[in-house]
Amino acid sequence: MKDNKAQKIRDIQHFGEEGGVVPVIDHAATSTFLNPNDMQKVFEGEIQGCYLYSRHTNPSVMMFSKKLAAMEGSESALGLASGMSAITCAVLQVMKEGGHMIASDTIYGGTWALFKNILPKFGIEITFVDPSKPEEFKNAIKDNTRLIYTETMSNPLLSVSDIKALSEMSRSYNLKLIVDNTFTPLIVSPIELGADAVVYSCTKYISGQSDLIAGAICSSEEFIGELIDVNHGMAMLSGPVMDPKVAYELYSRLDTLPIRMKAHSSAAKTLVDRMRQEDIPGIIYPGINSYKQFELFNQMKNKVYGDGGMITLDCESLERATKLARSLQENKFGLFAVSLGFSRTLLSCPSASTSSEIPKEEQERIGLSDGLLRMSIGFCGDEEILADRFMKCFKEL
Ligand code: PLP
Repeated sequence: MKDNKAQKIRDIQHFGEEGGVVPVIDHAATSTFLNPNDMQKVFEGEIQGCYLYSRHTNPSVMMFSKKLAAMEGSESALGLASGMSAITCAVLQVMKEGGHMIASDTIYGGTWALFKNILPKFGIEITFVDPSKPEEFKNAIKDNTRLIYTETMSNPLLSVSDIKALSEMSRSYNLKLIVDNTFTPLIVSPIELGADAVVYSCTKYISGQSDLIAGAICSSEEFIGELIDVNHGMAMLSGPVMDPKVAYELYSRLDTLPIRMKAHSSAAKTLVDRMRQEDIPGIIYPGINSYKQFELFNQMKNKVYGDGGMITLDCESLERATKLARSLQENKFGLFAVSLGFSRTLLSCPSASTSSEIPKEEQERIGLSDGLLRMSIGFCGDEEILADRFMKCFKEL
């Protein structure tokens, strides 16, 4: 099977200043105008596309953004300081005049808390709905609705949103659709399915090394232009810029993302196959045919990249989930830590960590049980040996 996405990433090429095979990092905080008259024209919006000040645009950040846009199939992109800043800037840019938005109710706990606790204080009304039911989004639309927000594969329940159906609906009601694709870069391409903007926590798979925090927004040239507008741009005016050194790191790491995503999916599949052979109950993995949204995910995914590296296991109680996680860490299966997309396996219990911002009753309502163990499967080491280790720990439990 041809890997067109990998080729698109590879075909973005920047040379170093003296012809080096890698680009230089542009650290400058500000850029010189050889013709002083041009500076005023940039501020007045008469001249676009030139470097002004590093909070506005930076050559290294733009280099990374260009490569990310090539991967995502978007006209443009913008690297930012964190996934949360990407979400905040993208959402507030659309909602800058207030109004109503509809969001999936099984999103990352930090995003949920931002929407529930902060945005209403800025005059933004939110309705949360079940992302596996597009009709719930439709029923929630009001006269002043401006935005639909969802995650392609939700954190941590791995619920899949039907991006095509949501984008058709949002278009027909003149709404914007923003999708967090952090769990499924390359596997799903929401822009190609009609989303207006995609947000990433680049801290996760795009970095792959759990050694930096970063985020990005992929969208049209118009929307990215709005975000950095000197008078009205949320990115420009709230200022969560990506550091040029981080941009260089991510620019380089994007080259290996296609290989890494295939490796994450392969390691996760080996483990899931073993778990199923041993009849382990409570597995949530979108690539298995017993999964409630298997068909939808199968239609949406790019088959080159498999089913992703995220597995959630319902261990029935927080105590059992924690006990299993402790044993898995002691037996060198994985590390007990929040976050995901690392080359090594990371384990966490979302109800008591990354989803703890969501109140208990709400967790129960959306089916997020205390006993969930979220596993972000890494690709370092040998898949079979690691699956043996998992089975040993599970049987001891
Ligand atoms: N989106 C998702 C799906 C996440 O899981 C996270 C963090 O865990 C974020 C956004 C926030 O990203 P960051 O920690 O880079 O700000």
